[in-house]
Amino acid sequence: METITTEKNTYKLVCGMEIHAELKTNSKMFCGCKNDPFGAKQPNIYTCPVCLGMPGGLPVANKTAIEWTIKVGLALGCKINLFSKFDRKNYFYPDLAKAYQISQYDLPFCYDGVVETSYGPVRITRIHLEEDTGKLQHTTINGKKVSLIDYNRSSVPLMEIVSEPDIHSPEQAKEYAKKIRDLLRYLEVADCDMDQGGMRLEANISLAEKSAQKLPNYKVEVKNINSFRFAEQAITYEMDRQAKILDDGKTPVQETRGFDSVKISTFSQRTKEDAEDYRYFPDPDLPPITFTQKQIDAMRNELPELIIEKISRWEKEFAVEPRYSNLLIDSTQTAQLLEEAFTTLQKNNQEPNKLANVLANKKLAFEKTVEKLVQKFSELFATDTVPESEILSVINSIMEANPDAVAKYKAGQKQVVGFFMGQTLRAIGKKIDTKELTKLLQQELEK
Ligand SMILES: [Zn+2]
Repeated sequence: METITTEKNTYKLVCGMEIHAELKTNSKMFCGCKNDPFGAKQPNIYTCPVCLGMPGGLPVANKTAIEWTIKVGLALGCKINLFSKFDRKNYFYPDLAKAYQISQYDLPFCYDGVVETSYGPVRITRIHLEEDTGKLQHTTINGKKVSLIDYNRSSVPLMEIVSEPDIHSPEQAKEYAKKIRDLLRYLEVADCDMDQGGMRLEANISLAEKSAQKLPNYKVEVKNINSFRFAEQAITYEMDRQAKILDDGKTPVQETRGFDSVKISTFSQRTKEDAEDYRYFPDPDLPPITFTQKQIDAMRNELPELIIEKISRWEKEFAVEPRYSNLLIDSTQTAQLLEEAFTTLQKNNQEPNKLANVLANKKLAFEKTVEKLVQKFSELFATDTVPESEILSVINSIMEANPDAVAKYKAGQKQVVGFFMGQTLRAIGKKIDTKELTKLLQQELEK
């Protein structure tokens, strides 16, 4: 659904996305604390003076997190800033003890990339690296309302991928976000566990009149969406809500909204601060990061074969349809398993595309090993051996019982063969090769 038509007007969707993903490095972004907020047995066990914002605590940037960010950027066709830096984004809220977040303001690691979707390309504006915040829990203890803070997640490396407003339908938003998740998993830099908040989606949504050339003069940000389906629903809901406001000749308020997954609606959270409210300035405790073009080229050469390249190679080598590959590749392990299974099947004169089809359509489950997968696949398509004489006698008795159908076939209605096929299969009650059966039927009917 690209447009929404009301009694008064037709509007088109203008939407950009911001995707946050926690990187799965061993340690946190600016200290040596363990990066495992979801696995922690207790709150506040993975903390130190740096991630607790104690005076005198000095940050040291995590090299792996920076390299992984650049890896993702290169995989998305981004340009890389050879000179970049970290900045302080000042805000006062207890989820970060320092009262600022270390982020990147004007010199992100990566910029100008693209994600191809089946609805058209979505340009990537920038990819930057920052630190995640702690987690607040508002609860009641002994009848008293309290707010608890867990800093295990505070300063976990957080990558933010910002797109241009190139998304024109809720379905495209879903596909785009899924492609980002698949890539991050494939590159093994993030688990993207959305239930836990390891990947969070934000959509900047506005509507423009269908023929308008300019971007709308407002945008509504829907934050903390934790599933692809919710992203689709939130955008659909906003399109409806904003169209009604625009119909009344008003402009929707520029604000941040939350998504209520029970009511399937969005609700106002706060009106948006301007960027300058954050008083960004370069973090004086962290030196700028520089790379040489040679270093970046070396990183590009080390990238694994990308999903999009693999899909087109599989189509050429194994005749596997891209629509199946697209659904199936969600990690390096799966890709490798499929690659080996396709190679084995091709050697055995079996069709790799058939395996892709049954896996994509969930008629067959993935197995841990290639041997097991190929075996299960072969079993699925195994045919029983039935002597030809037995099949022929069944065919002949069916023909005798249905002289009208035989006459129709002889009169040129060749599709009647389908009827005989069904009857024969039912009478035999076993799995037999339908290609061979068709041949036998034609041979007998044409006698
Ligand atoms: Zn720490």
